[in-house]
Amino acid sequence: MGLLGSVLVLGAASPGLVLAAAGTAGVAPVSSVALPFEGGEAVQIIQGYHGGTHQGDSLYGLDLVLASGETSGAPVLAPFDGTIPWAFAPGEKTGCIEILAADGRFGAMLCHIVLDRPFGHGEPVVRGQQLGSVGAAGMVGNNGTPHVHMELHVAGRSSNGVPFSASEGGLPLEGWDLPVSGASNEHGGEGPIVSTTPAPR
Ligand SMILES: [Zn+2]
Repeated sequence: MGLLGSVLVLGAASPGLVLAAAGTAGVAPVSSVALPFEGGEAVQIIQGYHGGTHQGDSLYGLDLVLASGETSGAPVLAPFDGTIPWAFAPGEKTGCIEILAADGRFGAMLCHIVLDRPFGHGEPVVRGQQLGSVGAAGMVGNNGTPHVHMELHVAGRSSNGVPFSASEGGLPLEGWDLPVSGASNEHGGEGPIVSTTPAPR
């Protein structure tokens, strides 16, 4: 059992090491996070940093809705090329999925999504690939308002949230710099921000 355990541990560690090596071997660094909605969609921030439910690890979370239509059921797309470190099962809990960018520097966590299917640990995704759709009111932990909760995580670690601001250790959101002053619900109500994510492939 001891040997088998060691082999399994090594097997589990290898993909991460390969990914880290790839990250330093010429993958273009991501300089801005795209919105997880179809290109051209205008998006509004309805709750910002340090808003009511944005505390602790979720301090720099943003709640996003479509400005121009029904958010419930809208396709949710991968914001960059990368891999899936973890995801809940479709319809499970708060409907979250983490996408680690191919350069390995940042991950985006998206929540309140009904995922289209189970996603495997380390599964590759491409920018614009559909992951699921926005849950209906009262589903997947959205507290009655269909929206996507989005966080930016250093190296895809959910305990390592950073603002959507390059000057504060993160990345801008579609080129929008969203710094932190410490105000309550900061950036809530801002927008519209237009998604540049390509259509699902
Ligand atoms: Zn939220």
